[in-house]
Amino acid sequence: MIYFDLFCVSIKQDYKISAMLNLILFGPPGSGKGTQAAKLVEKYGLLHISTGDLFRSEIDNQTALGMEAKSFMDKGQLVPDSVTIGMLKNKVLANPEVNGYIFDGFPRTIAQSEALDDLLEELGQPITALIALEVEEEEIVARLLERGKTSGRPDDADESVIRKRIAVYLAQTTPVYEYYQQHEKSVSIKGMGTIEDIFHALCTEIDRHL
Ligand code: AMP
Repeated sequence: MIYFDLFCVSIKQDYKISAMLNLILFGPPGSGKGTQAAKLVEKYGLLHISTGDLFRSEIDNQTALGMEAKSFMDKGQLVPDSVTIGMLKNKVLANPEVNGYIFDGFPRTIAQSEALDDLLEELGQPITALIALEVEEEEIVARLLERGKTSGRPDDADESVIRKRIAVYLAQTTPVYEYYQQHEKSVSIKGMGTIEDIFHALCTEIDRHL
């Protein structure tokens, strides 16, 4: 035990891991990634990076990047890889002193996955696991329409944009699951049920890597 403790990094008082924990929280829009990420941050002390949130912050600040991103987001399309990857890299490199990252909404394409792996390889901190939340399409549409009543997000307010986002997820993003599966890093859990039940299933999966 003494030997073990010497090589551990203390995250929280009762939580110890031996290396950085770099997680990809995966799943379609409305699968609960943001909700669960907030709870995981609290438990494991990781940095949550949501590319959707980063884009919305750029839009709020009316930056050129934000204006470019908005033109794609409002239509339910992906923002081009070059823009997204650059923004993500800046965020990671600006926060080197962390216990690990939770990537939410990134990577969404194979090119983004390769760029992320290259970046993390340079940092000597590879992805630990990709965990996908599985939710049925009609449940997603219902959740997003409900969220759209209060979120202020234009892409949640219009059912045709919601369905476009799901189609984009199926066509362009699901290959990312297979990409990490080649390295036996992908796993999926049920994303339907109570928030606490889903959180419990996520933690069980994550704790296998500690
Ligand atoms: P989200 O908040 O993750 O649902 O993302 C909202 C929108 O932001 C998406 O529909 C895309 O238009 C854009 N977006 C977020 N993350 C990415 C990404 N990794 N690649 C391309 N576009 C993204």
